[in-house]
Formats: sequence, structure tokens, C-alpha cells
Amino acid sequence: MSFYRTFMVDPLGALKGNLANGIQSQLALLFSPVISNFYEGNWVYFTADQASPMNNELLVYFMPSGQSIVQMLPGLSQTADFTSDGWTAWVGSLVASEVYVSQSDPVLLAKLAFHELMHNRFLQGNSMHSQQDGLGATSIGPSTPLTPTNIRTMAAVIQNPSQQWGAGFLFSAVEKLILSHRTTNRKPKRIP
Ligand SMILES: [Zn+2]
Repeated sequence: MSFYRTFMVDPLGALKGNLANGIQSQLALLFSPVISNFYEGNWVYFTADQASPMNNELLVYFMPSGQSIVQMLPGLSQTADFTSDGWTAWVGSLVASEVYVSQSDPVLLAKLAFHELMHNRFLQGNSMHSQQDGLGATSIGPSTPLTPTNIRTMAAVIQNPSQQWGAGFLFSAVEKLILSHRTTNRKPKRIP
């Protein structure tokens, strides 16, 4: 028996104060019943940049509102829809998930991350919403429950291999994002 690992990556510092800590604990609680038949327990790791999950493990990015790293997945031609709370996309077997941080409730942010990681593990787009209830449904709030269906269906695929987009691939994308972030936040110069 070993431990299941989920990685939270925050390349642009979207999670202020103790928020990352809170999300880590909440996300570990959500994964606990999913992995309990196969693993001794689960750890949720938080890192600003590097993460090297194994292919049966998961990774989710936390991004400032209006910034997408998933959009930079090599070979992807879709663009982010920032009216959503998050996004998961894949090219071949390379998968990436992100949550947009527009509020500071660790319970809700963990649930949104779990939702994206369901898309990630199922390799399924919006069609997932009609097949799931609870955290797999279209709309997630702070009191949306993790349901028996969520647990059973996620447990069935939790050990499936799919490569998470992280580590080496990430660096050039983060540099581009930091540049665009700075540009976006730059105050307009007043011309006299
Ligand atoms: Zn969804």
C-alpha cells in the first residue's frame, strides 16, 4: 500500500495568505473515500511551480481570474472560457486542469478542483455533467456534496494512467503568462 498524490500548482500566486493550506486539507478530504480501497491514504502537495506527478496521479493549476495555462497546452487549439470556474483539456494522453480563483472559500475551491480532476481522469468534456450528480454536475457551490456516484466512478478510474502537463513543459508557458500578466496589470500611462 502506498499513498496517492495530488499536486496543486499556483504559478502566478493566485492563492493568497493561508488559502492554499485550506484547499490542500479540503481536497485531501474529498480524495480520501475515492482512494481508500487502493491506497493507505492520500497527500495533496502544494507548489508554486515544479511538480512531477506519476501517470496515475493528478495535478491541478490555480490561476488568477482571466489567466489560463491550460490554453498553452502544446497542440491545443481551443481558448479558455473565463465565465467558467475552471477548465480541463487534453491533447493525446497529455492532460491539464485549472481552476480560476475568483473568490477565497477553500471549501468551494477544493470542490471546483475536484470537479476539474473528474474531467481529467474521465477524459470527458461537458458530457460528464449529465452523467454525474454532486461534484460532477454543471454547477458547484460550497455545499454541493461528494456523492456515492462521484466516489464510485472516480474510484474506478483513479489509477488509470494519463500524463499530467507539468514540470518541464511548464516553464516556458509560465514565463509567457507572467509577461502577459504584467502587461495586463500595467497601469495605463497618461499622455499629457
Ligand atoms: Zn465541468
